[in-house]
Amino acid sequence: MKLTDSFVTTLRDAPKDALTINHQLLVRAGFVRQLMAGVYTYLPLGLKVLNKISQIVREEMNEIGSTEVLMPILHPAINWKITGGWDKIDVLFKVKSRTKRDYALAQSNEETVTPLTSEFIHTYKDLPLSIYHINWKFRDELRSKSGILRGREFLMKDLYSFHIDQEDFDKYYQTAKKAYLRVFERLGLVAKVTEASGGGFSEKVSYEFEVLTSAGEANILYCNNCEYCVNIDDIKKYNEGDNCPLCKKAKLKASLASEVGNVFDLGQKYTKAFGLTAVNEKGTKVYPIMGCYGIGISRTMGVIVEKFHDDKGIIWPREVAPFDVHLVGLNGKGEDLYKKLKENHIDVLFDDRDLPAGQKFNDADLIGIPVRLVVSEKTCEKIEFKERTSDKTELLSFDEIIKKLK
Ligand code: ATP
Ligand code: MG
Repeated sequence: MKLTDSFVTTLRDAPKDALTINHQLLVRAGFVRQLMAGVYTYLPLGLKVLNKISQIVREEMNEIGSTEVLMPILHPAINWKITGGWDKIDVLFKVKSRTKRDYALAQSNEETVTPLTSEFIHTYKDLPLSIYHINWKFRDELRSKSGILRGREFLMKDLYSFHIDQEDFDKYYQTAKKAYLRVFERLGLVAKVTEASGGGFSEKVSYEFEVLTSAGEANILYCNNCEYCVNIDDIKKYNEGDNCPLCKKAKLKASLASEVGNVFDLGQKYTKAFGLTAVNEKGTKVYPIMGCYGIGISRTMGVIVEKFHDDKGIIWPREVAPFDVHLVGLNGKGEDLYKKLKENHIDVLFDDRDLPAGQKFNDADLIGIPVRLVVSEKTCEKIEFKERTSDKTELLSFDEIIKKLK
C-alpha cells in the first residue's frame, strides 16, 4: 500500500479525550478514529491488524475442531425474554422498530446459537458440537474510557460447544483452554489463566485470560513462582502478600490486568431454556452441557499496544503488524524497490509522500511496523535496513534484505 493512495494520516497530538495509551497511539498513528465514546472506525492499518488477530484466533479454533459460522447481530426480543436476559442484562442494547417490535443487539450469542443448534442436535451422535463466529458485539457500557479496551461496539470471537455429559464437556474445556494459550502466545502476549466466578452464567468457576497492564480494569492477584492467578473482584479469600495457596513458596502480588478472553461452563442453563435435548446412549433424553468461550479481538489489539510501545510509538509484534515492511523513499526514490518487494510477496507500506526525511522516520516509528527500509540518493544501490526495536542501521543488498525478511 502506498501512503499517498491510502488515507492514513498521522497526528502530532492525541485527542484530548484519549486517556489511555492505546487510544492515543492508535489515533495518532492512523489506525482508528473515535465516532463517539466506545465506538471506533478501523482505518486501513487498524483493519489489517484486526484481521490478523482474527486469523490467528480462527486458525486455533479450527484446530480444536470448531466450525466458523456468522450469526446475526439483530435479535428478536423473544429470545432474550426466554432466558431472562431482556430484564437482567443491564448492558443489553434494545431497539424498537417502526412497527413497535422489540429487538436486541448481540451482547453475546447464546440466545441465537442455542435455538440454531437445536435444529441439528437430536442424539449423542450429533455431539459434541462446536461452532464459533467472529462478529461485532454491542454493550451499553457506562465506562468507555480506555480506548478500544472497552467498546460499546467491539469485535469478539465467541465459540459455543455442546456435550452429551459433563465429562465430555470437561475434556473440551481443557482443550479450549490450551488453544487460548496458543492464541495469546502467537500474539506475543502472556495471558494468565485466572480463576473467577461464573459471572451471570452459573455458579461454576470460569477462567479468564488476563494480561497484566495498568490500563486494564480487572484486579488480580498472582504468584510469581507458579501459575496461580485469581480475580480479586470475585474471590475475596486472598489479599496481596498472602502466601500463594498453590505452590506456597511465594507471596501473592496484586496487579491491574485486562481480560482478553474467558471460558465458561454454562451447564444446562441455555439448553433447558430453549428446550434443546439429545437422546443419550441409554436412550434417555438429556439437556446437553454447554460451554462458551470468548476472545475480545479488538480489546486484544488495544492490549498489544499497551504492552508494546515506546515514547516514539507502537511496536507491533511481527504476527499482527499491519505490514511486514515500512519502506521510506526519499527524494522520489523507492518505486522500483516497492514493486520488487511486492513481487517477492513482502507486504509493504510505502511512504511515497513528498515530506522531509525526519517526518517520515517519525511516522515510521509511530506506526510501528517491525522493519524500516530506506532508499535515497545516499544509499546508492543499497538499502538501509532497521528494526523498529533497534537503533542499528545496516546497508544491505536486495537479496540480503529478502533473506532477512524470510
Ligand atoms: P469485562 O469483565 O471486561 O467486562 P466480560 O466478562 O463482560 O468482560 P465476556 O462477556 O465474557 O466479557 O466477553 C468475552 C470477551 O470479550 C472478554 O474476555 C473481553 O476480552 C471482551 N470484551 C468484553 N466486553 C468488552 C468491551 N466492552 N469492549 C471490548 N471487549 C470486550
Ligand atoms: Mg469478566
